[in-house]
Amino acid sequence: SVDKERANNVAKIKVVVRKRPLNRREIAKKEQDIITIEPNSNYLTVHETKLKVDLTEYVEKHEFVFDAVLDEDVSNDEVYSESVEPLYSLFKVQGLMVNSLYDISWYLVSITLERPPAHISPHGSGKTYTMQPLPLKASQDILRSMHQTYRNQGFQLFVSFFEIYGGKLFDLLNDRRKLCMREDGKQQVCIVGLQEYRVFNVETIKELIEKGNTTRSTGTTGANEESSRSHAILQLCVKRSADGSESKPARLVGKLSFIDLAGSERGADTTDNDKQTRMEGAEINKSLLALKECIRALDNYQGHIPFRGSKLTEVLRDSFVGDSRTVMISCIAPSSGSCEHTLNTLRYADRVK
Ligand code: ADP
Ligand code: MG
Repeated sequence: SVDKERANNVAKIKVVVRKRPLNRREIAKKEQDIITIEPNSNYLTVHETKLKVDLTEYVEKHEFVFDAVLDEDVSNDEVYSESVEPLYSLFKVQGLMVNSLYDISWYLVSITLERPPAHISPHGSGKTYTMQPLPLKASQDILRSMHQTYRNQGFQLFVSFFEIYGGKLFDLLNDRRKLCMREDGKQQVCIVGLQEYRVFNVETIKELIEKGNTTRSTGTTGANEESSRSHAILQLCVKRSADGSESKPARLVGKLSFIDLAGSERGADTTDNDKQTRMEGAEINKSLLALKECIRALDNYQGHIPFRGSKLTEVLRDSFVGDSRTVMISCIAPSSGSCEHTLNTLRYADRVK
């Protein structure tokens, strides 16, 4: 059918890279912009300055090709069109809203690029800046079609927000209550006790996200740092009651997950002797590795997805099976001071593909 054909045209995995502009601090330090992007192309070049044995400098160029490369002047709206909107249009063409026959889930992955230790004044790569507007815009689109095209057909929208910290799950919309996970017979992941809020408008969603972000960043130690050590997962679930009425129990018909990953460099921070920090680092590395393996397996589906590699991938299990789609957005800082970290991130994104 035409629907099927259109759905097949949306790739299983899409990797998008976004470069942010140099910030004031970097400009003040006279840092160079080391990333060039050819206009309207999907590749970028990192110009890395290295030293020869005689200590003279030379520049090594690293080229990367991705599904989309977004330059510093690209707006958040364009990021949405490039990443979430194709999934959302699939959401409609697959008849999800029409007949709810499909169990489809998608998720969106954003790789964080937190700068390492806090004493090096942190300057992010734009992960939060990129991620925050996406679920709001997506829910706006979903609610609009629920209110207009699919009015009175029993569709309902739910929001939940939780984090994975040290391999454990915590509800960000319920005082960080500890949660556990189980699978039902149909390979659907069920997080026991997770609060799901039914929402009718974007304002409520915005409030819930703000509440969750506050809970997250003030976690156990009250330190802001906390947020870079946990994966936060915001889910928008569309449900529909069997007969299209409000009275019957609703069944999940589609799920969009927005994942704000923990900083990838935590584990590599070998100078940190703090046991807790090392444990966190190991856990984060394990889950990022497992995520990469799962995304790669998605691309070349052979019946086995190694989702058991970490809590993160277990939680996302139902996004790896069936007709799911994934977008990964890697945010990168343009400055010479971030070169090594930028290269690591780009290599991670490159290997996912
Ligand atoms: P991260 O979440 O990766 O640590 P942030 O998203 O907090 O980084 O971004 C750090 C700072 O840079 C913020 O002040 C943010 O407003 C700014 N910034 C990030 N990306 C962009 C961008 N693409 N355009 C303009 N400003 C940006
Ligand atoms: Mg951030």
